[in-house]
Amino acid sequence: MFGSARPAVPPPLIVPSMGYPGMFQVPSAPGHYFARAPMARFWGQLPLVLFITQLSVEWALEHPTRPFGLGDLAHEDRRAMPDHKSHSTGLGVDLYVINKVGIQRGWDVERGPTGVTTIHQKGYDAALTFELAQLVTKLKKDFPFIQALFNDEKVKKAMPHFHTDKEDRRSSQHDDHIHVLLQGKHPYTPERVAELLRIRYDL
Ligand SMILES: [Zn+2]
Repeated sequence: MFGSARPAVPPPLIVPSMGYPGMFQVPSAPGHYFARAPMARFWGQLPLVLFITQLSVEWALEHPTRPFGLGDLAHEDRRAMPDHKSHSTGLGVDLYVINKVGIQRGWDVERGPTGVTTIHQKGYDAALTFELAQLVTKLKKDFPFIQALFNDEKVKKAMPHFHTDKEDRRSSQHDDHIHVLLQGKHPYTPERVAELLRIRYDL
């Protein structure tokens, strides 16, 4: 009943930007939820969007009821993000830590982030977040990254390509999320990319 009995997860179709060539919007996929509003910051270059969708689909196969929260990518027009500099190229993403009882991160227009979980809180699901870091690591050979930041020392100890804020002075605030900055490579063939970019019209 294992392996082949798993339900197939259809790959999500990816929507390209009409006004800004080379930028794509992250689709919904079963392994993640969108952890901030508005949706304006969920645009990225193709390698990043492929990385997130693959991460999401593979994560959902193992943990169908425990999606991870997706934070900032970039704006559609790649304009500077003064509050989030390394993201403006469209190759960086934030993945929020997993909460033990499934509390999801959200966004209140007036108050800002809601449902925040950090590695210092009791609600932090260290085991499951560790697995998420392992999956990021597994995908590294296909989606190599420049930088991975996260302040959980156990993750860093097991996966030395992760760095904490203490080690990387350019960064701060990685107590509640994993930050990944990709090199910009991906393993998909042009044919496969074309399949994923097909827009479905159900009119
Ligand atoms: Zn980040």
